[in-house]
Amino acid sequence: MSKCFADEAHVSRTNPDDKVPPVKVNPRDPSTCKPLKAGGAETDPQNELDTSLVHEMTHGVRPKSVPLWKKIQTGDPWEDFEEFFATTVENIYKSERGDLVLRGGHDASILSHDLATSEGFMKDSTLRARIQKLHKAEPLAQRLGRLKGIKFNPFALAA
Ligand SMILES: [Zn+2]
Repeated sequence: MSKCFADEAHVSRTNPDDKVPPVKVNPRDPSTCKPLKAGGAETDPQNELDTSLVHEMTHGVRPKSVPLWKKIQTGDPWEDFEEFFATTVENIYKSERGDLVLRGGHDASILSHDLATSEGFMKDSTLRARIQKLHKAEPLAQRLGRLKGIKFNPFALAA
């Protein structure tokens, strides 16, 4: 059990008849986990309530495709295609609000500076192939790709 309650955010699958499973998350205890501000570096960027919610909602709104993408392992800190997708959506949200520090995987790592823009991310052939594969198959990725003017939104360069 992590000391940050937001770490426990997850999609609840207690009722298989739910059309869209609920996302469950508890607010953090501000005395133990400070939020990461743009440019800040002392706290773990994944331990924020709102970014955790965006991440979990990305899973939650796509209950049918999640298990399929979960099966495709990435063999790196992104874990699998589903976590790569949810973490990328989370990074798009963070970038849109002005964060300079983005997640570098489905762990506590930080995305290197040269990868933290759409152009930089898409220069990496492995990451580009994943973005293009997800963009082709996922309506959510296609809709996100229409959002222009966000510093980090690799789906905007996927078409
Ligand atoms: Zn996830």
